[in-house]
Amino acid sequence: MIIQMREGATSDQVTAVVNQIKDMGYSANISGADTKIIGLIGNPHKVDPDLFERLDGVGHVEQITDRYKLVNRKVHPEPRLVPLNGTMIGEGQPRIVIAGPCAVEDLETMLEAGRIVKEAGAHGFRAGAYKPRTAGIDFQGYGLLGLQRLDRVKETTGLPIVTEATGAHHHVVTGPDGKIPTEINPEDIAPKFIKGDKRPYFMGPGRYGKEECFEKVHSIFHVTDHADILQIGTRNGQAYGLLQTVAELTRNLKHPEKSKPVLLKRGMSSSLKEFVNCAEYLAAYGNPNVILCLRGIQPAKDGLRNNPDYDQIPLLRKMTNLPIVFDPSHAYGVRDMVVYGAEAALGHGADGLLIEAHPDPQKALTDGHQTVNPDVLEKIVRVAENYI
Ligand code: PEP
Ligand code: MN
Repeated sequence: MIIQMREGATSDQVTAVVNQIKDMGYSANISGADTKIIGLIGNPHKVDPDLFERLDGVGHVEQITDRYKLVNRKVHPEPRLVPLNGTMIGEGQPRIVIAGPCAVEDLETMLEAGRIVKEAGAHGFRAGAYKPRTAGIDFQGYGLLGLQRLDRVKETTGLPIVTEATGAHHHVVTGPDGKIPTEINPEDIAPKFIKGDKRPYFMGPGRYGKEECFEKVHSIFHVTDHADILQIGTRNGQAYGLLQTVAELTRNLKHPEKSKPVLLKRGMSSSLKEFVNCAEYLAAYGNPNVILCLRGIQPAKDGLRNNPDYDQIPLLRKMTNLPIVFDPSHAYGVRDMVVYGAEAALGHGADGLLIEAHPDPQKALTDGHQTVNPDVLEKIVRVAENYI
């Protein structure tokens, strides 16, 4: 329920409403500058509006029937601004661009990719160390080694790193050529069995050292250590177990607004309501710093990888106060259309873009067909920067 105060309502009148809410065992969220809006949070059942309508200074009382409250624009009309390396992402802020190759590749290519993303003027570098694939048996990323390469990109460019947490991986054993990367000692990544215990234990190389067990070298821990923003991919858009763990690892309970941001991609067949409910879930587990990412939905439009959903940005905007970015690379799946998708999304109010870019897209390890070159990336950043 939201209680909108009349213009000019006194602070005592606002306090009376808040006290009424607290007396009923619920919590209150106050927003709005001139006209205060007080959200009543935590009620499992309908609350009688008359309890508030009769209080002095109250203008309008509205029952919110949406299941999501924490990220609901009706309850929180002001945009949530999510911090990224000193800038803010969200409605009304300068549009941002996060770019990079689909997957982390060899170190030299990654450093070059970092350089072109930085020179284009983008605000963040993104590449996947753990890759969920259309065919699961394809190359799944360099894992921890990939995260270490992302550290090097960050060191050399200063760009914040966005990378995906996929879930129950341990370390990726094989490279794209099917061989174990030379930097990894095969001994370290082979599962070991302990007498009397059927579970495989994956010991090191990880921050927890050789004596640590499987659960503690779980990839989400590593991703949290290395990423500035954790991405949840479309295949995991509604994986509540993963969402819960990611929220628990990234949240800052004392200062929720300082939680490490999560970039949540829309599940490929999720409705907008389902999508927003997933963001609500992250917020409910303590991390409100969620950036929503539209990336096209299924079934695909003829000739495209997906059905581009930038036209739903204004609808999403009405539902939630969270930042919204658009990923034209996955939405279209066609390199030449990425620019059009980027412009369309900006025109529909996107707060930012996610772009797959590579120094030499023809040679990209994954998703090369939808990856743009440095010149196109630069053009996209210019368009985004100049968008009012
Ligand atoms: C990606 O971001 O490279 C990716 C796999 O995206 P999605 O989850 O949207 O398919
Ligand atoms: Mn990709």
